[in-house]
Amino acid sequence: MTCKECGKNIGRSEQEASYDVLGVPLCTRHLKLIKRIILNNNTPLEAIQLYYALRAKGAQPMLEWWDGNKSVDIAFSRVKLNIEIDTDYNLITHEQALKDLEESMHSFKNGFTTVRIPHLTVKYYLDDTVQNILDIISSLKTNIKVI
Ligand SMILES: [Zn+2]
Repeated sequence: MTCKECGKNIGRSEQEASYDVLGVPLCTRHLKLIKRIILNNNTPLEAIQLYYALRAKGAQPMLEWWDGNKSVDIAFSRVKLNIEIDTDYNLITHEQALKDLEESMHSFKNGFTTVRIPHLTVKYYLDDTVQNILDIISSLKTNIKVI
């Protein structure tokens, strides 16, 4: 296996430390980096998996992008698209739902589209999720050109 970040060949122990835990093969150095991002932002594993799946398709996502107000799981700043991975869907409270809506509204005012994706969609339908996001990106690019 090779590191998804730098393309370096990784050995068995590196594979076990990374792929078996994150679902993404990373070298020791990049595993450390991603672990720090997860610790700092409480990033869902599915966001990491989606980030690398999008990159594998030639997209240029940013992981845990600070929009000036909050950290966005995955962002495409050129087309102003924010992607948030929702975990614990069943446990969502009124307060959290309202907070999410207010955040989406805040981003929308700044010209950003926010797409919320349930973590299980990433887990079980990764390819479809990636394709849908790529379609959204190309639609947003078209809209930008029209304006
Ligand atoms: Zn690496």
